[in-house]
Amino acid sequence: MTFEQILKNNGLMLDGSTTAPRKIGNTAAKRQIKEAMIKYERLYFQDLIYAHGSITSDIFSGIDTRDITADLSIANVNIDFKDMGKCPGSYERDTNTIFLNYFYFDYFTLLHEMIHAYSDTLRKYDYGYSLRNYATFKLYEHLRGKIKDIEGMITKWLRFDIQNGLIDQGRIGHDVLFYLKSIDIELQLNFTPCEVIGYEAPKYEVIRAA
Ligand SMILES: [Zn+2]
Repeated sequence: MTFEQILKNNGLMLDGSTTAPRKIGNTAAKRQIKEAMIKYERLYFQDLIYAHGSITSDIFSGIDTRDITADLSIANVNIDFKDMGKCPGSYERDTNTIFLNYFYFDYFTLLHEMIHAYSDTLRKYDYGYSLRNYATFKLYEHLRGKIKDIEGMITKWLRFDIQNGLIDQGRIGHDVLFYLKSIDIELQLNFTPCEVIGYEAPKYEVIRAA
């Protein structure tokens, strides 16, 4: 079953009007969302858990990474629901929890908050800076040639006024790793540019083969 189907079957693909987690119960909803996220990890987030065979695995060449991969897994992240006004989701570092809005969240919210969770989990190690740098570098390498003027897009995204505007709204952590991983997922899933990161991000153009 696809992730979307799990959400749809349980009334979790919302249009803003349904109180789905209440409808199926908190525990069942949390379990199903966690299962869906673990499935997503297998499909789209192997690089952020440094899994064997992923684009980031070279950094651990010759080292058994099973413990690291298990530690970084989304399986360790808590899921909870709350009324969050207009905000569909958030990630709280202190409690390692993805919060989803009781009344409104979707597929893109989950992916967006998953990136936050991985990105923040990496900060907890002293070695995490190197891991984050390597993932950023490898994603850049992977996306270069697929996105028109990716360097210019990154520069736009990091502009002080853009980032400071987000921070003023309490939206922290949308750095280059976040931007590139969002693009990577949007490309893999054929989403509209910026559907995962949010529409205030500079809208990139995909280079199509002639
Ligand atoms: Zn965010």
